Amino acid sequence: MSNINIRIAVQKSGRLSDDSLKLFKECGIKFESGGSKLRSISSNFPIEFLFLRDDDIPGYVEDGVADLGVIGLNVLEENRKEVEIVKELGFSKCRLSLAIPRNEVYTDLSYFEGKNIATSYPNLTNNFLKSKGVSAHTHEISGSVEIAPSIGLAEGICDIVSTGGTLLSNGLKEVAEVFKSQAVLISNKSLTAEKKNILDKLTFRIDSVQRGQNAKYVVLNAEEKNLEKIIALLPGMKSPSRVPLAEKGWYSLHSVISENDFWEIIESLREAGAQGILVLPIEKMIL
Ligand code: ATP
Ligand code: MG
Repeated sequence: MSNINIRIAVQKSGRLSDDSLKLFKECGIKFESGGSKLRSISSNFPIEFLFLRDDDIPGYVEDGVADLGVIGLNVLEENRKEVEIVKELGFSKCRLSLAIPRNEVYTDLSYFEGKNIATSYPNLTNNFLKSKGVSAHTHEISGSVEIAPSIGLAEGICDIVSTGGTLLSNGLKEVAEVFKSQAVLISNKSLTAEKKNILDKLTFRIDSVQRGQNAKYVVLNAEEKNLEKIIALLPGMKSPSRVPLAEKGWYSLHSVISENDFWEIIESLREAGAQGILVLPIEKMIL
């Protein structure tokens, strides 16, 4: 085995870090993290982790200091670095939204015409407003954006929202969504063949973990006369397994169903005569 490691930059501590570390651990990659550790080499996969501030990650990946990175799409799009987006990771979901003081009357985006907007995301904010034909002024600040209207710095803000609780507690209301974000895996644009090969192994594992998260294992009992109808409802990976029960004329069916249409399928199964339905989580799903 060669001794080349792929180097990945992940956030040291913040809203991306826990889920990033969890994902790599679910991929079976062993490494140390936490405390004051700034880098860590895995003991069972050719990867080295760098733990950094999230803002620095896209630049490091562009320069090749790191080969890969996990970053919020919002930060990536704001900074426009030349990197490849390998895949969406499905966590750290949030949105960038425009908000104004709660007691203001809002009609539509023309509200922002000629107004000052405080934000840490001037590029995303300006692009959005420009695309809607609104000309406003953005005032870039690096944090505590929600305070801007109440201290007279700006009339509105454009900031990251997930539940809206922070806006509310600062007397603001969300009026328009500017950008939808989630964590993405990015890579340097010119990886060597050897590193590409490691990246392929990594994405294969990530895909298997994600597929497992989006699927459930279903076990149910059915009488012989209902089998055909029930099997037609169960996709399975190939087709459902059918195991005879000790009681004559009864079978147990095992299958995999997608999280998305989970409840609909369960309801149809019951209507078709399925009994004793068990639903179990799937840890990984290898195709
Ligand atoms: P750092 O110290 O590394 O610079 P930070 O303070 O800039 O961290 P965080 O607040 O940890 O950044 O957020 C990191 C990313 O997580 C954001 O860029 C965004 O993509 C996502 N994020 C932010 N707020 C939320 C939220 N409330 N829910 C889910 N994801 C979020
Ligand atoms: Mg940051």
